Amino acid sequence: MATLLDKLCAAHRQAGAMGLEAASIQALGDLRGVDAAGAAALLAAQAELGQWLAAALGPGGDNSLAGLAAALEDLARRPACLGCATCCRVSSPTLYAEDLALVGEGGLPRQALYALRPGERVYSARLGRHFALDGDLIKLREAAGGGCLFLEGSRCGLYAHRPLQCRHLECWAGRHAGQLEGRPRLSRRDLFAQDPTALALLGEYDLRLPGEELAQVFQEAAQGGDPAPALALLELDHRLRAGIAARYGYPPQEQDLLLGRPAWVVARAHGLTLALDGQGRPCLSAGQ
Ligand code: SF4
Repeated sequence: MATLLDKLCAAHRQAGAMGLEAASIQALGDLRGVDAAGAAALLAAQAELGQWLAAALGPGGDNSLAGLAAALEDLARRPACLGCATCCRVSSPTLYAEDLALVGEGGLPRQALYALRPGERVYSARLGRHFALDGDLIKLREAAGGGCLFLEGSRCGLYAHRPLQCRHLECWAGRHAGQLEGRPRLSRRDLFAQDPTALALLGEYDLRLPGEELAQVFQEAAQGGDPAPALALLELDHRLRAGIAARYGYPPQEQDLLLGRPAWVVARAHGLTLALDGQGRPCLSAGQ
């Protein structure tokens, strides 16, 4: 089997500087699970790697390839967070009951949270499959391109207040989010415990628009079934949210936490897009 040194030598011979850099990025992926963006950032930030890379690309550089291979292997074995941010790019964290104290001014901003409701189907990157939630799931919002909203380059924008899941993860020691499964998750009722109006609205909304029912009608529509029940629930959701905003003053962003994601967002997760047909009537089309 080819060693890392063999691979670096071959890449250097075949594609020069670009080949060597690509092979170094690949090595950090293979040895430590770092994604390409994280590995490229590490190559740029780790002075020792940079020096070996520069030496390997200079005159008589072949002699430095062994040093580069050793430095890459050493970095990949380091028992500490490398700051590659690979885990922050996979998804945003789920919050647990013990994160409640972090929520609020100076900590985790409430407007940065949203809820998924029981019955909604979610995708677990760790398990590699969809499943139906058995309770609330409170998450930090994701950035437009995916990953955590608070990732700034390779830095955590709220490091001192990062939630339990982020503090628990230690990729180098095999610690992953699944190991927190037994802990109580944070719920909407925890977050609105001091607001009886919000709790009453939450209960009423869940009764009229259960997450299980929403998931079921969207699933059926996505599989080519009658879209009418899905459209009816989309309309009901729209009316309820508009009424709650107008009458009780909870803005859409706060409703994403109190009532969970709007139905049209849940529909999108089922591969359905809400649009208008030729007569200007709402319709659902498959595909995002
Ligand atoms: S809160 Fe910070 S550590 Fe946690 S996923 Fe977001 S950027 Fe990463």
